[in-house]
Amino acid sequence: MISNKPLNVEEPKWDRCTRNGFLRVGNKRVPFHTLAPLITSYDYDFIPYFDNLKQHPSESTHARMMTFRMFELHNTLKPLLQSIYQTTLDGKLAYDFEKDVIETTPILIDPCMEYTWYSQYRKILSTNKDTPIEVRKLAKRILAIVTKVEKGELTKSEGYVKEKIEYEKFWLGLAKDKRKLSDVVTKILDLQNSMRADIGLPPVPAVYSPELLEVTKQINKIAQAVWVGENCATYVVLTPQWLKSEALVDLLIDYLKSVDSKFIVLKIKNLELDKVTYVYQRRMFKKILEAVNVVKQNDEEKVFMLLEAGYQMYPAITGGFDFVSTSLRALDKDGGGFSPDSEGYGGFFSPKHLVVLPWRDVKIMFANGGLKCSCEICRGITSIPSKDEWNVLRRMHYMLVVSRMLEDVNKFVLDQKIELAIEKLSLSELSNFKRMLPYIS
Ligand SMILES: [Zn+2]
Repeated sequence: MISNKPLNVEEPKWDRCTRNGFLRVGNKRVPFHTLAPLITSYDYDFIPYFDNLKQHPSESTHARMMTFRMFELHNTLKPLLQSIYQTTLDGKLAYDFEKDVIETTPILIDPCMEYTWYSQYRKILSTNKDTPIEVRKLAKRILAIVTKVEKGELTKSEGYVKEKIEYEKFWLGLAKDKRKLSDVVTKILDLQNSMRADIGLPPVPAVYSPELLEVTKQINKIAQAVWVGENCATYVVLTPQWLKSEALVDLLIDYLKSVDSKFIVLKIKNLELDKVTYVYQRRMFKKILEAVNVVKQNDEEKVFMLLEAGYQMYPAITGGFDFVSTSLRALDKDGGGFSPDSEGYGGFFSPKHLVVLPWRDVKIMFANGGLKCSCEICRGITSIPSKDEWNVLRRMHYMLVVSRMLEDVNKFVLDQKIELAIEKLSLSELSNFKRMLPYIS
């Protein structure tokens, strides 16, 4: 047995496509409609996160949950866990506040096995000591193919085919080798448990075919047996192509309806449903939201979470998911980075437009009287800060405005007025999301 914390839904109250209430996992209790920010670095994410909780507790009530990536633990959660029980010279705990947060805030640690398929963090995965050796070796083998393409020894398409063969050989083979599979799953869940994760996340691959969905099912099944307790999630990571096929979406829905676990986590990589032409994909996402609602209405104990939600954060949480995770930059697509005219200043999440405004627009705002936001952070910014300050402050701003926004969703449900979420979407730059909410549009 790895971990066994009872998991329960408390005080559920519905308004059509969403519900209020609380998740209790062990001794921790968190309201639905909560953002679990992805903490990727100590200085830019972790410290600002704690600063907000400390200085603006009543504005952060719907952000008291945390997500980490397994290969970044050495730079995020690990150093904190090592320091929170240290005492000062006068015998007091040096990190009293942080200790309290860790002991009351649900933690998720994402194995991020999709980076055996996606290139963004493959190199880190190939050397990261917390990653099981079998997975590191797979990442190394695929990197060797990439190098051959770079050197011109293989064409791009030859390289792609070889990468795909290597990737599928590993994951399909793992599903057949019970001993190796159980070994990999146990190592990864053990690490999550030792890092105080409250919800176990099985090491599932990025799925683009029915065969890989079967592998995911197998891994989730083994994980439930290894973890034993109620607090191990069923986890599915999809490539965005999945939403281009109704047959595949139906396969996913059948699976979501059949699983026993109470906590179900979905991640759709690089999701960009805001693109105007993605009419079909938006319809498929709505179909998933409808299925999530059906599952929850049939069994009140089921809880759903969407990771790397990006711009889909708001419709996801108002349309069926209980929890969402995004980075504190509001963007979750792999790649990107600063545009040449940003001068190293990141964009600003507009609570009205629900998208990230580029730095050139923010500068115009500063020239015209300041940031158009009334949050605790923005009220304190009267002139253009330094790059480093700005890149911390914009994250703190994002956390506070999203927390407030999700608190408002709770109020909509209380007043039986969830259609106000549609109004908010209509007034934003994401108005094409307004038809995605089930039952009300
Ligand atoms: Zn603000």
